[in-house]
Amino acid sequence: MEALVCGAGGFIGHHLVKRLKREGWFVRGVDLKYPEFEETLADDFVIGDLRDASLCRDLVKPGCRVFQLAADMGGAGYVFSGENDAVIMHNSATINLNMLEACRLKGIGKIFFSSSACIYPAYNQQDPDNPVCSEDSAYPAQPDSEYGWEKLFSERMYFAYARNFGLDVRIARFHNIFGPLGTWQGGREKAPAAMCRKIAAADDGGELEIWGDGEQTRSFLYIDECLDGIFKLMASNWSGPVNIGSEEMVSINQLAEMVMAIAGKKLRIVHVDGPQGVRGRTSDNRLIEAKLFWKPQQSLENGLVPTYAWIAEQWKAGRK
Ligand code: NAD
Repeated sequence: MEALVCGAGGFIGHHLVKRLKREGWFVRGVDLKYPEFEETLADDFVIGDLRDASLCRDLVKPGCRVFQLAADMGGAGYVFSGENDAVIMHNSATINLNMLEACRLKGIGKIFFSSSACIYPAYNQQDPDNPVCSEDSAYPAQPDSEYGWEKLFSERMYFAYARNFGLDVRIARFHNIFGPLGTWQGGREKAPAAMCRKIAAADDGGELEIWGDGEQTRSFLYIDECLDGIFKLMASNWSGPVNIGSEEMVSINQLAEMVMAIAGKKLRIVHVDGPQGVRGRTSDNRLIEAKLFWKPQQSLENGLVPTYAWIAEQWKAGRK
């Protein structure tokens, strides 16, 4: 079996390449860059820009499975500042337009697209204790970021290609995936990585800065579990969008306490201004459990242990 992984230099794409190789696939990866922290295991790795339609057509080979994870993305600092909106929308939409058209031209059967929990309406995520993120709550649409609007537009385009041209599409809405080998500094890192870095860098008894009051809630899914979900989805006949996330919802303050306990440090939390996104968000796994018999197998804390260890090691090694 041959797979094309778009975004193979990124966090999830790199882990996906490793898993596909372990399972015996021939893997071609493509990205603007090589994976940052480890050599790729892909049989062929193309450095290229998927905004280039002719490159997309060259990469897609008849009979291969396509995993489209490339996107212009980042954590709250990148997505919610407002400064990157046009670039995010233009880049990611162009990649998806190109990949779909390349798949249509090459008669590709199955394509996976990584959508996001960011597509869910802001009006359903104002109560930190009771956010609504069931798949059928996506409309009437009101994502809280242009990143979310692009994902929603692209979801619709994937489904339109499925209806009109017979593409077999699989769409996952990821909810905060984390783990080792992910971006942990520089402004594009997500909350768990940022928390691990700040705590690794602080002296015991020092201060820990958190954006907002820290009462905003989220759930986080460990990377290995996310890969299990992708494989289950690709192997299934379920063609609607599904959440791939965890239902273990914590506040950002609780996340901080968890990481401090793992690190064996006690820091004083200081709340500062910063982009926060919606007040509450967690995965709703009823649909994926019913259709794919998938649910996360381990706790958030279990996943944070290796993640903290890896980020603390990066920090100590002075990787900047
Ligand atoms: P990532 O940023 O680590 O990986 C995305 C990769 O796409 C990067 O390596 C980037 O270089 C590449 N890319 C961007 N523009 C490109 C272009 N023009 N040509 C070729 N490559 C390009 O992100 P990730 O965390 O691995 O996320 C993978 C996918 O999952 C993305 O589509 C993202 O939107 C989606 N997603 C991730 C999360 C999460 O928590 N990590 C949550 C929801 C959705």
